[in-house]
Amino acid sequence: MAGRIPTLADLGDVSGKRVLVRTDFNVPMENGEITDDFRIRAALPTINWLTERGAQVVTASHLGRPKGQPNPKYSMDAVRARLAELAPGVELLENLRFDAGEEGNDPAFVAKLIEGIDMYVDDAFGACHRAHASIVGPPQTLPSAVGLLLQKEVEVLLGLREHPKHPFVAVLGGSKISDKLGVVEALLNTVDALVIGGAMCFTFLAAQGYPIGASLWEPDQVDTCKRLLEQSKASGKTIYLPEDLTGVDANGEYATFGIRLPEGAKGFDIGPGTAAAFSDVIMDARTVFWNGPMGMFEDPRFEAGTRTVAQAMADTKAFTVVGGGDSAAALAQFGLDDDVDHVSTGGGASLELLELGDLPGLEALRHAPNAPISPNDPISPNGRELS
Ligand code: ADP
Ligand code: MG
Repeated sequence: MAGRIPTLADLGDVSGKRVLVRTDFNVPMENGEITDDFRIRAALPTINWLTERGAQVVTASHLGRPKGQPNPKYSMDAVRARLAELAPGVELLENLRFDAGEEGNDPAFVAKLIEGIDMYVDDAFGACHRAHASIVGPPQTLPSAVGLLLQKEVEVLLGLREHPKHPFVAVLGGSKISDKLGVVEALLNTVDALVIGGAMCFTFLAAQGYPIGASLWEPDQVDTCKRLLEQSKASGKTIYLPEDLTGVDANGEYATFGIRLPEGAKGFDIGPGTAAAFSDVIMDARTVFWNGPMGMFEDPRFEAGTRTVAQAMADTKAFTVVGGGDSAAALAQFGLDDDVDHVSTGGGASLELLELGDLPGLEALRHAPNAPISPNDPISPNGRELS
């Protein structure tokens, strides 16, 4: 029997209880030092909510990809030290992925994880699309709840899926094309327009027959792109693609191009005309979801398109949501991260939630022993029949 997703209030009295909080402390590290502690700070509202009410909080997270083996390179020591400064007295377990049972969702690992634990809270949006032990295991037996960070993510992203204000525009870019075509297809059901830049645009341009030089593309996705272009036309949606580009010519020299790239040339950013056009679309929208940089913004020669789009995201009156690790990094690089309405902490998870309307971690919470049966609650996500 599944109910709605239990919130912190549905835990009842937490005083004196040991509460396992699954956090996403997968922070960027360089030479053993944390380069950005945003993810640790983002977990504090939930941690503080619990400790203020007398709970003993035990946090757990993965860090990097140690592949089921202990590896000092991925130890949680630096995170533990930072957490001790931000939330004294809160425990942090060792990297969950040091044990193959985490990614393998091994019941024996779940049992070890919840030994001596009374309650479970999931606040790890970035890991909720994975059916890993620490995500789907504890809610099978423990009173459980969605943490404040995860709750906000779910409300914002499902809100986009279910009741966006129109015009709703999705701006997509980045380099993981095949990963993202599923979400393009799902978005075509809800958006009024799709704006496509980044390396993603070249597979679409190739599908329209334009020469793309030596730019990054995925030839085996051309047919899918053709189908999506036809689908959008048939349903009256607009797909905006670049009309000019910047990049390098066949000799590797910086160059600007029209829509047709010469042989050997590589497109690394949308051109200024395109950036202005995309910006207009964003300014006229009432809801905008942005995932994926418009170009190789890490190189200052090719950051202009991403910067213009980021600035439009900051300036528009629309409700603005940004998902994706690199898109969030670009916003931060331009100092605009406080000027959008929501920056999602989950890359893959935010796309999957938009595409499918549910995640394994949320489904697990809905089956927790304390999940309230109340179909009309706002975070009973996809409004489907409760079983
Ligand atoms: P996100 O993390 O926001 O989901 P992705 O991981 O899909 O975004 O893509 C980010 C990467 O895409 C960036 O490192 C950027 O340099 C790269 N990129 C964007 N446009 C291009 C392009 N035209 N050619 C090559 N790489 C690109
Ligand atoms: Mg990325």
